Amino acid sequence: MRNIFVIAIILIANISFAQTTPAWQGKFEQMGQTLPTPNEYRTGSGAPGPKYWQQKADYEIAVELDDTKQSISGSETITYHNNSPDVLKYLWLQLDQNVLAEENSLASTTTGALKDSAAAKTYATQVSDFKAGFNVKNVKEVNGKPLPHTINNTMMRVDLPQPLRPGEKYSFQVEWSYNVVDRSVFGQRSGMEYFPEDGNYLYTIAQFFPRMCVYDDYQGWQNKQFLGRSEFTLPFGDYKVRITVPADHLVAATGTLKNPTEVLSQSEQTLFEKAKTSYDNPVIIVSQQEATQKEKTKSSQKKTWEFSADNVRDFAFASSRKFIWDAQAVKLGNKTALAMSYYPKEGNPLWEKESTKAVKNTLEVYSKFTIDYPYPVAISVHTASIGMEYPMICFNFGRPAKDGSYTPQVRQGMIGVIVHEVGHNFFPMIINSDERQTTWMDEGLDSFVQLLTEIERYPDISWNRGKPTGLAPYLKGEKSKMRPLMTNGDQVIEFGNEQYAKAATGLYMLRETVMGRELFDKAFKEYAQRWAFKHPKPADFFRTMEDASAVDLDWFWKGWFYTTDVCDQSIDQVKWFRMRKEETDLEKKNLNVAKGDLASKSGKNYSDFSSGPEPISLTGTDPRLNGEFRSSVDDKAIMQKLEDKNIYEVTLSNKGGLVMPVIIEWTYKDGTKEVERIPAEIWRVNEQKFTKVFVKQKEVVNVVLDPKQELTDVNVQDNVFPKRPDSSKFDEFKKKTK
Ligand SMILES: [Zn+2]
Repeated sequence: MRNIFVIAIILIANISFAQTTPAWQGKFEQMGQTLPTPNEYRTGSGAPGPKYWQQKADYEIAVELDDTKQSISGSETITYHNNSPDVLKYLWLQLDQNVLAEENSLASTTTGALKDSAAAKTYATQVSDFKAGFNVKNVKEVNGKPLPHTINNTMMRVDLPQPLRPGEKYSFQVEWSYNVVDRSVFGQRSGMEYFPEDGNYLYTIAQFFPRMCVYDDYQGWQNKQFLGRSEFTLPFGDYKVRITVPADHLVAATGTLKNPTEVLSQSEQTLFEKAKTSYDNPVIIVSQQEATQKEKTKSSQKKTWEFSADNVRDFAFASSRKFIWDAQAVKLGNKTALAMSYYPKEGNPLWEKESTKAVKNTLEVYSKFTIDYPYPVAISVHTASIGMEYPMICFNFGRPAKDGSYTPQVRQGMIGVIVHEVGHNFFPMIINSDERQTTWMDEGLDSFVQLLTEIERYPDISWNRGKPTGLAPYLKGEKSKMRPLMTNGDQVIEFGNEQYAKAATGLYMLRETVMGRELFDKAFKEYAQRWAFKHPKPADFFRTMEDASAVDLDWFWKGWFYTTDVCDQSIDQVKWFRMRKEETDLEKKNLNVAKGDLASKSGKNYSDFSSGPEPISLTGTDPRLNGEFRSSVDDKAIMQKLEDKNIYEVTLSNKGGLVMPVIIEWTYKDGTKEVERIPAEIWRVNEQKFTKVFVKQKEVVNVVLDPKQELTDVNVQDNVFPKRPDSSKFDEFKKKTK
């Protein structure tokens, strides 16, 4: 008993100590050791260093899609280029399909309590007979000799016959098969949808071949297991892919179609060519009528489509006889890309109207903020319920009701997801960050440019995600669920609110509030240019943004990315003063020395401006201070200038812990307003509280902090002086008195 009592007293003492004298946390100290030490691979400026290197993996793949068994079988020759200074004894490959395999760790480490009356679907994956995962049939040298290999969940190690030296390349072959996942049961990024009304499938296929892991200067092999959420890390390479499908299927894929004359009808070829110079509107290459006709006459023949893609980090495709297909040309710098859409009739009339247009809008706006889109095509494929990105191709939701009608929300959701997924071409497909380790580098940066695109190209819709006002409600919520942005995605609870929205909002605030558009845009573009077709890390982004702007942002990275501190600024007090008139006549008066806290001296209540200004006295400058300087301070002139001025002493406190700029809106007696913007460094000597004096010509009647709510302040009640009655209570009161 006694022991408990003593502990309780100590705890209380600690809490009160923490509240009254919060420790200085060095919020404006440089990040120093928090960031990795710069080296000749990655410089202190955030740019790739003189000895930067990256590996390359080239693929020749042949796959067949079996529409009767809904399975994929294939073989590949991978040529791996060792550009590193290291000797490699083994290679690591990713077997993503294994994430659903019985022996994998995803199902066994997924948590959740049992619920009464849960939907049967909740248990579907646990009782399913579906056989998931790669069946790796063989791994061999190009001469046919088997290669020793070991599968560990979603990773496979291939042991090389001889160590691979710097500058050397090595080719080997893998053969495999797997069953395609039904999205209605398993979700997943890659999968199929079945349409019972016409008995056809729509396949959106990805992670369909054993893919090389990244080996880099930062962590060696990036072979962190796939747990279903944190995405992928892949090296660049050149792809040649042959895809065999039913003869009446239309295939959309990463890269350039190499054999149009073998797989397209004469009319399709003509219209496809026409689309390449159609800059204003999409050309419909396969119409709804033609697609609907094919749904009925299922071909038992096969066709092989050939694609090639250079300098991409992955390859994906979609295949169905249900596809309608349209395309148009988009001019980007000195290049022209084809924006294309593939969708079943279930996506119309919405998809025909909006999809390709959204692809075009995305390519244009992203190119402006990063680099000109360098690939030949950009494709949007319709799916029932997911949004997922791959180089040059992505799968997007947005389906009207059966009668073709759709709400504004369905249209907004569809445009939003297409802009987002096409935008992923830039982050992380070209600016190739490590998705498995750092989600915000692709989802956050992408969601941010997505918002810029939406605001610019769809001003009729109200967009929220990525704006401070969109994030503030989340930041007001349960703190124990929050994780710093630098947390690995697999450990995050509020994944969308943090890795997407909070990261995007951070960049939005940097652009709109902290740095300004000109400095931000230049630095952001510099980052994109430096790291296009390379592998950036968080420090490369942080350093480049400062290097190109001369804005010290270490405080921002520390607060916004490394903690869960929130912005909660408060106006504690505003005191109003005016100079005593007689003080200006220096000869007649003995000078009073005003010292210390004036308010406490007068004992006055400063809760509003009603009791008028407090008189203050100024002293003449001590002549000794003028010293040997020829011009001394003209006390009289200063005092005359202050004579009719209103002097305000404002005390602000930082209740949320996050240091942010201070934006003050002054409302004057004549109804006019003035907004004053003060950099975050105002908090640099005292992170919790500051007092500052402002001299104003006009009389102030109201002071508001962050008037446009651009700082994600979680409590705006205390941002106003004089204090307003609690608005919710006030509304209740109004209701009652009605
Ligand atoms: Zn995304």
